[in-house]
Amino acid sequence: MTTPAIITVAITGNIATKEQNPAVPITIAEQVESTQEAFEAGAMVAHVHVRDNNGKPCSDADRFLKLQEGLQKHCPGMIIQFSTGARGGKGLERCESLKYRPEMASLSTGSVNLVNNIYENEPKLIDIMAERMLEFNIKPEVEVFDLGMLYKAAELVQRGLLKLPLHVQFVMGIPGALPAKESVFHFLRTELAEVIPGASFTAAGVARYQEQCQRWSLAHGGHVRTGLEDNVMISKGVLAKSNAQLVERACEIIGEYDRHVASLQEAKTLLGIAA
Ligand code: ZN
Repeated sequence: MTTPAIITVAITGNIATKEQNPAVPITIAEQVESTQEAFEAGAMVAHVHVRDNNGKPCSDADRFLKLQEGLQKHCPGMIIQFSTGARGGKGLERCESLKYRPEMASLSTGSVNLVNNIYENEPKLIDIMAERMLEFNIKPEVEVFDLGMLYKAAELVQRGLLKLPLHVQFVMGIPGALPAKESVFHFLRTELAEVIPGASFTAAGVARYQEQCQRWSLAHGGHVRTGLEDNVMISKGVLAKSNAQLVERACEIIGEYDRHVASLQEAKTLLGIAA
């Protein structure tokens, strides 16, 4: 019996544009259609951001609600993960959408430079977001862009603001933050096992590092993230046709590691989300 690997598809993000790849879904209708294809291809978790009418990142709670409703209709049972990322808005507006109680939400537990910007997550705001996730029974995905964020998550566990078991994502390959190197991945994974035993994890590799990070994670019992948010290419110089095509590729890679693609029920059980 092989062990299941959960595929998370990050469909849109804050940065990707149609100029980079026309398949990047921007409107809610496009997002629902793209997610449905990815769900049917094997992704059980949808990591979602919303954009405004000009295609720019925003944190508009009503848009999150509309997207959630569309996904619940077209992807029945799929685990929906709202982004609360700093590139989508400022301060408390970043977590207003949590009142709609998605199954999961991202939670960055520290600040870091990303390319030419500060990815700002002040400690007080991290506390508030973690508290809201507890209050609304939302499973956080702890986003680790640097080692300090892993230790911050452990502190939040100690203070009762994060519940075990934790689900952690290592974000690798963005200039200014963690380099996508195997030695760095091993270090992070070892630290995680020591500091927060029993946590599940995934590794999100940006752009050309996407597949490599999937492989490192799978080889060590972790899960997989893919999608146009992180990478608009299916192979060197070739644009991905859709989020679903990236999911299909992830399914093939999972098969190479004596793992199988997690079903919805398996994903919910592994993440501790009520069916
Ligand atoms: Zn994101």
